[in-house]
Amino acid sequence: MPVDPATVLAALNEGVYLVDRERRITYWNLAASEISGYPAQEVVGSRCADGILNHVDSAGNQLCGEHCPLQQTMQDGVSRTVQVFLHQKDGRLRPVQVTAVALTDEDGHIVGAAETFRDDSAHRADRERAAHLERLSLQDPLTGLGNRRYLDTCLATRLRQLTAVGRRFGVLMLDLDHFKPVNDTYGHETGDAALRTLACTLKLGVRPDDSVIRFGGEEFVVVTPIDDVDQLAMVAERLRELVRGTTVQATGVSLTVTVSIGATVARPGDTAAALLERADSGLLRAKRTGRDRIVLV
Ligand code: GH3
Ligand code: MG
Ligand code: MG
Repeated sequence: MPVDPATVLAALNEGVYLVDRERRITYWNLAASEISGYPAQEVVGSRCADGILNHVDSAGNQLCGEHCPLQQTMQDGVSRTVQVFLHQKDGRLRPVQVTAVALTDEDGHIVGAAETFRDDSAHRADRERAAHLERLSLQDPLTGLGNRRYLDTCLATRLRQLTAVGRRFGVLMLDLDHFKPVNDTYGHETGDAALRTLACTLKLGVRPDDSVIRFGGEEFVVVTPIDDVDQLAMVAERLRELVRGTTVQATGVSLTVTVSIGATVARPGDTAAALLERADSGLLRAKRTGRDRIVLV
């Protein structure tokens, strides 16, 4: 016995609706009602452009005009799948995955389109969790700065750009001076607060293109695009002064610290390890020769 396609469409878990060339809704299945909250009798006959469904993308842009996936599919005949939000009848936004397919007559002329849509909450939550974890894996939890893994990717990119187009950059290795006594005197909590405050100072003291990384403990690395060594020295000097001028206020204590800095300009052929080693040797000399200073290597 032949099966009536309308019965099949009605039984699907996916929302399905059909529109004619004017984007007037001609069919609306049960799942479409369940997902959107609109029963068929309220939508069949109206144009989807009348703003009933009101798809918006994750940036909040209305898709009902020229960005309507159905409209685009009816123009080029290419089916497309997008993740959007639709407005439910009660006004709430619901994440859905939408697929638009062009419908053609026997001569191949586009006479309308079908849209299928399904709830995308679970997938969206997965994607957001993945993005969140991705952020966490590159971020130091105490200060919010990039971590060592982030430094690896950052140096790899900069070294590639240095080789490919000669874009120069420098690396600063910073280590807070006599930080252990801060912990020993005021406690670990104050030490942590000081690290957060000073991380903020470093971040505010660089340009948007620069990267500030918590390398470990009370050590930081700054990667900065520069034209010449004098510019690198200026960046280092600014950060040294800014740290010196920062008053950490935490747990009822006011304190200041200084920083020693090793600085080096990346050279063609450098590896990330070689660069960091050079900056570190500068830092060691800065410590040995009195701290609160910069040594260029
Ligand atoms: P120097 O001038 O030679 O660098 O002296 P220093 O005391 O800073 O150097 P050292 O490497 O001996 O000690 C670093 C100290 O930083 C050890 C520890 O007390 C402190 N430290 C490292 N990581 C953290 C952290 O995450 N939180 C806190 N509160 N303290 C930390
Ligand atoms: Mg240290
Ligand atoms: Mg130190």
